[in-house]
Amino acid sequence: MNSDRLLDAIEHELRPRCRLRFGQEVEALFEQETHQARQRHLVIMGLVSALIYTLFLINDYSLRPEAFLASVVIRGVILLPMALAIFWWVYRGVPPWLRETLMAGLVVIAMIGSSTIFYISSSPYSYLDVFSFGLILLAGNIVFSLRFPYALVSSVISIAVMGAFVFHYELMPVEAKRLAMFAIVVKAVFTLMANYRLEYSMRISFLLLMREKIKAGNMQSANHQLTRLSVTDPLTDIANRRQFDAIFPAHWQVAQLEQRYLAIMVIDIDHFKAYNDYYGHLQGDLCLRQVAAALQSNSRSDDLVVRYGGEEFVILMPRTEPHTARQAAERIRESIEALAIAHAGCGPDANVTVSIGVAAMQPTVGQEETVLFMAADQALYDAKRQGRNRVCMTPLAES
Ligand code: GH3
Ligand code: MG
Ligand code: MG
Repeated sequence: MNSDRLLDAIEHELRPRCRLRFGQEVEALFEQETHQARQRHLVIMGLVSALIYTLFLINDYSLRPEAFLASVVIRGVILLPMALAIFWWVYRGVPPWLRETLMAGLVVIAMIGSSTIFYISSSPYSYLDVFSFGLILLAGNIVFSLRFPYALVSSVISIAVMGAFVFHYELMPVEAKRLAMFAIVVKAVFTLMANYRLEYSMRISFLLLMREKIKAGNMQSANHQLTRLSVTDPLTDIANRRQFDAIFPAHWQVAQLEQRYLAIMVIDIDHFKAYNDYYGHLQGDLCLRQVAAALQSNSRSDDLVVRYGGEEFVILMPRTEPHTARQAAERIRESIEALAIAHAGCGPDANVTVSIGVAAMQPTVGQEETVLFMAADQALYDAKRQGRNRVCMTPLAES
């Protein structure tokens, strides 16, 4: 999904409503962004809860010493290893529905375990345990923060389980049974309300965070785009003079420091005014684009090809010695000739050609970069004077 569509989907989800689950795409993103932290949270909270559940053995020992062995078997031998296996499974990573189902299942299993322990004992105070069963719902709905539907279903099943055991337990006074069931239902309602609020806030925070992230990303790419536009010539899509003015001094300094050659070509289309006069400006623009594309495709990737202005181009060639620069200029000149763009404004068989002035030098400390540029410009002037469609190099540049 592209960032604009995602932003729209997020804005849509941010509208006030009761439903917790997002639409398919945002829900997938939510899961992708949060599943690792959620797995870790569930395993840590699960371990703490399992430890406390096992520690209730102390309570079993004082309330029903005659059934202590059974409590040890249920809590320590059956439920604890089962819980640890589930935590390991969740920790390794399972689909979201299975992760929530396993953890919700654990809540129900804990309720079955605790109910069985109090039920099998005939000690007079065994049923007092029942008043602490709300802690099991608290663990599922608040500590684990099960996703709301799972919290709801596990709470309802747990209450039904407890109700079934309590109902059939004869040693418990009916008033106590009524109070116990009333208390567990109220605890379920309160913890489910809190569970809903928690999940709601978590989901809203996620949406707000994602919205800011996407906006920041869009801003960054808009800035990149603006920067690119400001240093690109709109007609030919190659670097413009602004980019050249920024990069030329930097290359000059590097060449000074590394004591390497820096070469430059100044390229001017021959008789371009006549071309415009004959074919019109639109056709002239097309010709400029063709020439620019040819310059770019016949240059090395390290070279900077610039539309310097009008029908003049510059190619900046780092680490290029004079004879290599001259060869490159000759190759460029031939490539334009090879385009065979008819130039009837110059004669019946004439084609568009370019004249090129080249200069290359190893800059010494204290020298200005204009020395190199002026040498190439002077060479271009010579090329024009000598009849055009040729490459010239000034003696200064070759020294
Ligand atoms: P020379 O061989 O001496 O370079 O002759 P020239 O006609 O090319 O030189 P001149 O400087 O007299 O003319 C340059 C022409 O380039 C004038 C102008 O119409 C044309 N030109 C400059 N920028 C553009 C442009 O963006 N589009 C078009 N179509 N023409 C342009
Ligand atoms: Mg010109
Ligand atoms: Mg020209």
